[in-house]
Amino acid sequence: MGFANRYLHAVNSSDLRDDEHHHATDALCAAALADTTGAGIGSLLSRVKYADGTQQKLFESGTANLAQLLRIWTARVIEKGRERKWVKEGTAWDAQAAQALYRRVAERSLAYWLDGKCPACSGSGNSKDRRICVPCKGTGKAEITGAGGFELEKVKDMVSELEGLLHSYNARASVRLRNNQGA
Ligand SMILES: [Zn+2]
Repeated sequence: MGFANRYLHAVNSSDLRDDEHHHATDALCAAALADTTGAGIGSLLSRVKYADGTQQKLFESGTANLAQLLRIWTARVIEKGRERKWVKEGTAWDAQAAQALYRRVAERSLAYWLDGKCPACSGSGNSKDRRICVPCKGTGKAEITGAGGFELEKVKDMVSELEGLLHSYNARASVRLRNNQGA
């Protein structure tokens, strides 16, 4: 299990605590979710993935961003899962199982997106003797572990969703930058 995976799991397990700190982050979550252009979550994605730097730094300084990101992302995944009718939520038992599924998909997709490098080549796609890395066949990407079948499909969907959010955020940011330079 990679670092992001372990950390997100820890965050998620303590997620249900109801204290002042969480009330504060709930307000931030609401603001980011209300932003339908995705700018709120996009900037957070960018900050957590790049600005917070290495995993060690992530641990030291980026944990608040990461915790916040997981909460926002989980809310998004729940929204999408319901919209796309991943599972039926007819009974209380169904609803509880669905919640657990959404949370696992949110946590795994975010962890993979942050930290999904092939461990054999550290994401370069090449082995030390400059051949194509065998375990990942040169893609540089790790396998998504701990999920299979339907759940694995959903994790993959949500990883592309995260890619898409970051991509559109970066595109908008570069347009803004160009406009500012022109002015
Ligand atoms: Zn590899």
